[in-house]
Amino acid sequence: MSAKASATGPGRPQGASSEVIRDINRRIVLNLIRTRHPISRADLARLSGLQRSTVSLIVEQLIEEHWVLEGPTGRLPRGRRPTFLRLNDERVIVAVDIRPSQTTVALADANGKFISQEIMATFADPQEAMDRLVASIQRIVAESRRKKIEGVGISLPGRYNHGLDRLVFAPNLKWRDVDIRNPIAKATGLEVEVENAANACVLAAVWFDRMEECRNLVVVTVSEGIGAGVWANGQLVRGMNGMAGEFGHVPLDPEGPPCGCGGRGCWEVFASNRAALRYYLQSGAQATELSFTGLLSRADHGDALAASALETMAHYLGRGMRMIVAGLAPERIVVVGDLTRSWKRFGPTLEAEVVAQVLPGGCVPRLVPAYEDGMARLRGTVALVLQKHFGAVADAQV
Ligand SMILES: [Zn+2]
Repeated sequence: MSAKASATGPGRPQGASSEVIRDINRRIVLNLIRTRHPISRADLARLSGLQRSTVSLIVEQLIEEHWVLEGPTGRLPRGRRPTFLRLNDERVIVAVDIRPSQTTVALADANGKFISQEIMATFADPQEAMDRLVASIQRIVAESRRKKIEGVGISLPGRYNHGLDRLVFAPNLKWRDVDIRNPIAKATGLEVEVENAANACVLAAVWFDRMEECRNLVVVTVSEGIGAGVWANGQLVRGMNGMAGEFGHVPLDPEGPPCGCGGRGCWEVFASNRAALRYYLQSGAQATELSFTGLLSRADHGDALAASALETMAHYLGRGMRMIVAGLAPERIVVVGDLTRSWKRFGPTLEAEVVAQVLPGGCVPRLVPAYEDGMARLRGTVALVLQKHFGAVADAQV
């Protein structure tokens, strides 16, 4: 428990209105219920440091607003029978993950549990893609009439300028200057939040994977390209125009192969899934329409050329991570992508590269593979929609 806003406590902000304090206390209680459920009122008071009467008032309000449900009754020694509280799973979120090749539309509850999902191809024409996406969201909404839909969260393989409401940089998607938020909000009548895929993975890690106590972490997403989401000093870093985190487009070799961004020899040209497939073909291997997961299984079945292509990819991936270690000194680097299925192969090479970069006085960051079957982006969009009720995740270190 590091956040506290007791009206009587020493941590009370000078000049803060009682309304602000009430709001902070509400978020603390709501987040405790989210992370510790099922939980009793007594435990809420103990863990939050708030008075029992304050907790009871907040809980009554949350029950009235259908955020929290009561029951079942617990058993304690000496005959006391507290009622446990949990989040109302009838509050749902539409989670969307747009990738260059496919788009997933899913329905999740407030606990991040997925109820249904639909996968479709991502169309090259943004207008057509948006029309299909709206139709899919409307289908899911129609099927969940009895639930309360909180909003739509969308993960994008690019950077979104929140000030202009425009997708400004998506080299692997090839859409240019598209407003993704407003047309979907208008067509569905729902609130829509959009976020870069790597940033969505940061939110998923902090919100659902209990990494909230880690104040400095970087998520590296490895797929068609390489994205990075930066959580520094307990906050998501977006930078000017939402462009922060584009380590994938720092050139490692200006004479290297061309990149989707218009440059040459970017980190992602050497270390993405596509790069591994290129190494494999360049080594003389025979393959048509081979996917990256296909390459992983060829290596696992003893194909030496496949293993060598993956080793080259791992080497470059680790080499690029040195930029992150030197520049941001994260406590953890979370790796998201199909390569985590073969962590035995990638982990040691990545760790060796990262350790080699640690400067005198620095610490070795923990490398964490996110085993997740592609769900991190979707879970991140759930957090994106919910955080307006629960507060920025950094406020919620409970
Ligand atoms: Zn590039």
